Amino acid sequence: MAYAVPILMYHSLDRDSVDRWTLSTSLFDEHMKWLFEHDYRTMTVSEFVAARRGAAAIAPRTVLITFDDGLRDFLTEAVPVLQRYGFTATLYVVTGLVGKTCHWSRALGVEREMLSWDELRSLSQYGIECGGHTHTHPQLDITPSAKALTEIRRSKVELEDHLGRSIESFAYPHGYASPETRRLVHDSGFTSACRVRHALSSMTEDPFALSRIIVTNDIPAHAFESLFTGDVLPIAPPTDRIIGTAWRLVRRFGQKLRYPSRDSLEECEDRMLARCHPASDDRS
Ligand SMILES: [Zn+2]
Repeated sequence: MAYAVPILMYHSLDRDSVDRWTLSTSLFDEHMKWLFEHDYRTMTVSEFVAARRGAAAIAPRTVLITFDDGLRDFLTEAVPVLQRYGFTATLYVVTGLVGKTCHWSRALGVEREMLSWDELRSLSQYGIECGGHTHTHPQLDITPSAKALTEIRRSKVELEDHLGRSIESFAYPHGYASPETRRLVHDSGFTSACRVRHALSSMTEDPFALSRIIVTNDIPAHAFESLFTGDVLPIAPPTDRIIGTAWRLVRRFGQKLRYPSRDSLEECEDRMLARCHPASDDRS
Protein backbone atom coordinates (compact mmCIF):
# COMPACT_ATOMS: atom_id res chain seq x y z
CA MET A 1 0.00 0.00 0.00
CA ALA A 2 1.24 3.48 -0.82
CA TYR A 3 2.67 5.44 2.09
CA ALA A 4 1.18 8.81 1.23
CA VAL A 5 -0.91 10.28 -1.54
CA PRO A 6 -0.94 13.82 -2.91
CA ILE A 7 -4.44 15.29 -3.21
CA LEU A 8 -4.27 18.27 -5.53
CA MET A 9 -6.72 21.15 -5.21
CA TYR A 10 -7.51 23.29 -8.22
CA HIS A 11 -10.26 25.86 -8.66
CA SER A 12 -10.47 27.26 -12.16
CA LEU A 13 -8.82 27.21 -15.60
CA ASP A 14 -8.79 29.82 -18.31
CA ARG A 15 -6.99 30.08 -21.65
CA ASP A 16 -6.33 33.79 -21.27
CA SER A 17 -7.28 35.38 -17.96
CA VAL A 18 -5.29 33.91 -15.10
CA ASP A 19 -4.83 34.82 -11.47
CA ARG A 20 -3.46 33.01 -8.45
CA TRP A 21 -6.42 30.61 -8.35
CA THR A 22 -7.08 30.42 -12.09
CA LEU A 23 -4.45 28.46 -13.97
CA SER A 24 -3.95 28.66 -17.68
CA THR A 25 -5.29 25.59 -19.41
CA SER A 26 -1.84 25.02 -20.90
CA LEU A 27 -0.22 24.94 -17.43
CA PHE A 28 -2.84 22.47 -16.23
CA ASP A 29 -2.07 20.38 -19.31
CA GLU A 30 1.61 20.47 -18.38
CA HIS A 31 0.77 19.30 -14.86
CA MET A 32 -1.30 16.39 -16.16
CA LYS A 33 1.30 15.52 -18.78
CA TRP A 34 3.97 15.39 -16.07
CA LEU A 35 1.82 13.05 -14.00
CA PHE A 36 1.12 10.88 -17.04
CA GLU A 37 4.77 10.66 -18.04
CA HIS A 38 5.74 9.73 -14.49
CA ASP A 39 3.23 6.87 -14.39
CA TYR A 40 0.81 8.39 -11.92
CA ARG A 41 -2.68 6.98 -11.66
CA THR A 42 -5.74 8.79 -10.42
CA MET A 43 -8.61 7.87 -8.15
CA THR A 44 -11.63 9.84 -7.07
CA VAL A 45 -11.72 10.81 -3.41
CA SER A 46 -14.43 8.27 -2.64
CA GLU A 47 -12.50 5.53 -4.44
CA PHE A 48 -9.47 6.47 -2.36
CA VAL A 49 -11.18 6.31 1.04
CA ALA A 50 -12.89 3.05 0.04
CA ALA A 51 -9.51 1.64 -0.97
CA ARG A 52 -8.06 2.74 2.35
CA ARG A 53 -10.72 0.62 4.02
CA GLY A 54 -9.54 -2.34 1.96
CA ALA A 55 -11.91 -2.24 -1.01
CA ALA A 56 -9.06 -2.01 -3.52
CA ALA A 57 -5.31 -1.66 -3.79
CA ILE A 58 -3.71 1.77 -3.87
CA ALA A 59 -0.94 1.87 -6.45
CA PRO A 60 2.39 3.39 -5.34
CA ARG A 61 2.02 6.39 -7.70
CA THR A 62 -1.52 7.43 -6.97
CA VAL A 63 -2.64 11.04 -7.10
CA LEU A 64 -6.06 12.57 -6.49
CA ILE A 65 -7.16 15.57 -8.53
CA THR A 66 -9.86 17.80 -7.08
CA PHE A 67 -11.54 20.99 -8.23
CA ASP A 68 -13.57 23.21 -5.93
CA ASP A 69 -16.72 25.25 -6.44
CA GLY A 70 -18.17 23.96 -9.75
CA LEU A 71 -17.04 26.54 -12.24
CA ARG A 72 -18.04 25.93 -15.84
CA ASP A 73 -14.45 25.90 -17.04
CA PHE A 74 -14.04 22.54 -15.29
CA LEU A 75 -16.12 21.02 -18.10
CA THR A 76 -14.81 23.14 -20.96
CA GLU A 77 -11.11 23.30 -20.01
CA ALA A 78 -10.23 20.63 -17.44
CA VAL A 79 -12.23 17.64 -18.64
CA PRO A 80 -10.68 17.55 -22.15
CA VAL A 81 -7.21 17.56 -20.59
CA LEU A 82 -8.14 14.88 -18.05
CA GLN A 83 -9.58 12.78 -20.85
CA ARG A 84 -6.39 13.16 -22.89
CA TYR A 85 -4.39 11.47 -20.13
CA GLY A 86 -7.06 9.05 -18.93
CA PHE A 87 -7.39 10.76 -15.56
CA THR A 88 -10.40 11.15 -13.31
CA ALA A 89 -11.11 13.85 -10.73
CA THR A 90 -13.49 14.92 -7.99
CA LEU A 91 -15.45 18.15 -8.35
CA TYR A 92 -16.87 19.83 -5.24
CA VAL A 93 -19.99 21.82 -6.07
CA VAL A 94 -21.54 24.85 -4.35
CA THR A 95 -25.18 23.96 -5.03
CA GLY A 96 -26.55 27.47 -4.53
CA LEU A 97 -24.40 28.72 -7.40
CA VAL A 98 -25.33 26.07 -9.98
CA GLY A 99 -26.30 27.76 -13.24
CA LYS A 100 -25.24 31.19 -11.96
CA THR A 101 -22.03 33.17 -11.94
CA CYS A 102 -19.26 33.07 -9.35
CA HIS A 103 -19.87 36.17 -7.26
CA TRP A 104 -16.50 36.16 -5.53
CA SER A 105 -14.64 36.24 -8.83
CA ARG A 106 -16.15 39.70 -9.34
CA ALA A 107 -13.73 40.97 -6.71
CA LEU A 108 -11.01 40.11 -9.23
CA GLY A 109 -12.85 41.83 -12.07
CA VAL A 110 -13.93 38.59 -13.77
CA GLU A 111 -17.42 37.11 -14.20
CA ARG A 112 -16.99 33.36 -14.19
CA GLU A 113 -19.89 31.05 -15.06
CA MET A 114 -20.83 28.09 -12.90
CA LEU A 115 -21.88 24.69 -14.26
CA SER A 116 -25.58 24.01 -14.84
CA TRP A 117 -27.35 20.90 -13.56
CA ASP A 118 -27.38 19.45 -17.10
CA GLU A 119 -23.64 19.99 -17.36
CA LEU A 120 -23.05 18.46 -13.95
CA ARG A 121 -25.07 15.40 -14.97
CA SER A 122 -22.89 15.07 -18.08
CA LEU A 123 -19.74 14.65 -15.99
CA SER A 124 -20.54 11.06 -15.00
CA GLN A 125 -19.67 9.88 -18.51
CA TYR A 126 -16.09 11.02 -17.86
CA GLY A 127 -15.82 9.20 -14.54
CA ILE A 128 -15.89 12.45 -12.58
CA GLU A 129 -17.11 12.29 -8.99
CA CYS A 130 -19.22 15.19 -7.73
CA GLY A 131 -19.08 16.06 -4.04
CA GLY A 132 -20.72 18.55 -1.70
CA HIS A 133 -19.22 21.96 -0.96
CA THR A 134 -22.19 23.53 0.94
CA HIS A 135 -24.99 25.58 -0.56
CA THR A 136 -23.59 29.11 -0.16
CA HIS A 137 -19.87 28.54 0.62
CA PRO A 138 -19.69 29.80 4.22
CA GLN A 139 -16.79 29.32 6.63
CA LEU A 140 -18.41 26.40 8.40
CA ASP A 141 -16.22 26.39 11.48
CA ILE A 142 -17.46 29.83 12.52
CA THR A 143 -21.05 29.27 11.39
CA PRO A 144 -23.66 28.31 14.04
CA SER A 145 -24.07 24.53 14.09
CA ALA A 146 -27.73 24.48 12.99
CA LYS A 147 -26.99 26.66 9.98
CA ALA A 148 -23.81 24.72 9.15
CA LEU A 149 -25.77 21.47 9.24
CA THR A 150 -28.37 22.92 6.85
CA GLU A 151 -25.60 24.02 4.48
CA ILE A 152 -24.00 20.58 4.53
CA ARG A 153 -27.19 18.55 4.20
CA ARG A 154 -28.74 20.78 1.55
CA SER A 155 -25.71 20.38 -0.71
CA LYS A 156 -25.95 16.59 -0.42
CA VAL A 157 -29.71 16.41 -0.98
CA GLU A 158 -29.71 18.78 -3.97
CA LEU A 159 -26.81 17.00 -5.64
CA GLU A 160 -28.41 13.60 -5.13
CA ASP A 161 -31.79 14.82 -6.38
CA HIS A 162 -30.37 16.42 -9.51
CA LEU A 163 -27.67 13.87 -10.33
CA GLY A 164 -29.58 10.74 -9.34
CA ARG A 165 -26.75 9.11 -7.45
CA SER A 166 -25.31 8.96 -3.98
CA ILE A 167 -22.99 11.82 -2.99
CA GLU A 168 -20.25 10.56 -0.72
CA SER A 169 -17.53 13.19 -0.41
CA PHE A 170 -17.46 16.75 0.88
CA ALA A 171 -14.98 19.64 0.85
CA TYR A 172 -14.96 22.39 3.46
CA PRO A 173 -15.19 25.87 1.91
CA HIS A 174 -11.79 27.54 2.31
CA GLY A 175 -10.65 24.32 3.99
CA TYR A 176 -12.02 25.51 7.33
CA ALA A 177 -13.36 22.80 9.63
CA SER A 178 -13.50 22.41 13.38
CA PRO A 179 -14.03 19.02 15.05
CA GLU A 180 -17.72 19.98 15.29
CA THR A 181 -17.82 20.69 11.54
CA ARG A 182 -16.33 17.30 10.81
CA ARG A 183 -18.91 15.63 13.03
CA LEU A 184 -21.75 17.39 11.21
CA VAL A 185 -20.40 16.23 7.84
CA HIS A 186 -20.04 12.66 9.12
CA ASP A 187 -23.55 12.68 10.59
CA SER A 188 -24.96 13.99 7.29
CA GLY A 189 -23.98 10.74 5.60
CA PHE A 190 -20.76 11.65 3.84
CA THR A 191 -17.88 9.15 3.99
CA SER A 192 -15.02 11.61 3.49
CA ALA A 193 -14.18 15.30 3.50
CA CYS A 194 -11.26 17.33 2.23
CA ARG A 195 -9.66 20.30 3.89
CA VAL A 196 -6.63 22.36 2.92
CA ARG A 197 -3.22 21.59 4.27
CA HIS A 198 0.05 21.62 2.42
CA ALA A 199 0.79 18.00 3.11
CA LEU A 200 0.55 14.57 1.56
CA SER A 201 -2.41 12.57 2.76
CA SER A 202 -1.41 9.64 4.91
CA MET A 203 -3.17 6.31 5.12
CA THR A 204 -4.06 6.98 8.75
CA GLU A 205 -5.35 10.51 8.28
CA ASP A 206 -8.90 11.21 9.45
CA PRO A 207 -11.10 10.57 6.36
CA PHE A 208 -13.01 13.72 7.33
CA ALA A 209 -9.85 15.82 7.31
CA LEU A 210 -8.03 14.76 4.15
CA SER A 211 -5.12 17.06 3.39
CA ARG A 212 -5.01 18.78 0.05
CA ILE A 213 -2.22 20.65 -1.71
CA ILE A 214 -3.27 24.00 -3.12
CA VAL A 215 -2.10 24.26 -6.73
CA THR A 216 -1.73 27.87 -7.83
CA ASN A 217 -0.61 29.31 -11.12
CA ASP A 218 2.97 29.79 -9.96
CA ILE A 219 3.70 26.06 -9.67
CA PRO A 220 5.38 24.75 -12.82
CA ALA A 221 5.01 21.10 -13.72
CA HIS A 222 8.61 20.25 -12.88
CA ALA A 223 7.98 21.44 -9.30
CA PHE A 224 5.53 18.58 -8.84
CA GLU A 225 8.41 16.21 -8.30
CA SER A 226 9.51 17.97 -5.14
CA LEU A 227 5.92 18.22 -3.95
CA PHE A 228 5.36 14.51 -4.26
CA THR A 229 8.50 13.02 -2.78
CA GLY A 230 7.79 14.03 0.81
CA ASP A 231 11.05 16.03 0.96
CA VAL A 232 9.28 19.39 0.82
CA LEU A 233 5.81 18.63 2.07
CA PRO A 234 5.19 16.66 5.25
CA ILE A 235 3.06 13.58 5.52
CA ALA A 236 -0.10 14.83 7.20
CA PRO A 237 -0.28 13.90 10.89
CA PRO A 238 -3.54 12.24 11.91
CA THR A 239 -4.42 14.95 14.43
CA ASP A 240 -4.79 18.70 14.26
CA ARG A 241 -2.22 21.13 15.43
CA ILE A 242 -3.05 23.94 17.80
CA ILE A 243 -2.50 26.51 15.05
CA GLY A 244 -5.82 25.52 13.48
CA THR A 245 -7.72 26.53 16.57
CA ALA A 246 -5.75 29.74 16.97
CA TRP A 247 -6.30 30.74 13.37
CA ARG A 248 -10.04 30.06 13.73
CA LEU A 249 -10.22 32.47 16.66
CA VAL A 250 -8.43 35.15 14.64
CA ARG A 251 -10.92 34.77 11.80
CA ARG A 252 -13.92 34.76 14.12
CA PHE A 253 -12.70 37.96 15.74
CA GLY A 254 -11.73 39.49 12.41
CA GLN A 255 -15.10 38.72 10.87
CA LYS A 256 -16.90 40.71 13.55
CA LEU A 257 -14.61 43.65 13.04
CA ARG A 258 -14.34 43.73 9.27
CA TYR A 259 -17.32 41.94 7.81
CA PRO A 260 -20.55 43.17 9.38
CA SER A 261 -22.84 41.63 6.75
CA ARG A 262 -22.90 38.30 4.98
CA ASP A 263 -22.86 39.98 1.58
CA SER A 264 -19.73 41.93 2.30
CA LEU A 265 -18.13 38.81 3.77
CA GLU A 266 -18.83 36.82 0.62
CA GLU A 267 -17.46 39.56 -1.59
CA CYS A 268 -14.26 39.47 0.44
CA GLU A 269 -13.87 35.70 0.51
CA ASP A 270 -11.41 35.41 -2.30
CA ARG A 271 -9.25 38.23 -1.00
CA MET A 272 -9.34 36.68 2.46
CA LEU A 273 -8.31 33.35 1.02
CA ALA A 274 -5.44 34.95 -0.85
CA ARG A 275 -4.33 36.86 2.22
CA CYS A 276 -4.34 33.98 4.64
CA HIS A 277 -2.86 31.38 2.33
CA PRO A 278 0.82 32.36 2.68
CA ALA A 279 0.56 32.66 6.46
CA SER A 280 -0.87 29.27 7.25
CA ASP A 281 -0.64 25.80 5.83
CA ASP A 282 -3.15 24.44 8.31
CA ARG A 283 -6.39 26.32 8.07
CA SER A 284 -8.78 23.57 9.01
ZN1 LIG B 1 -14.73 26.70 -2.45
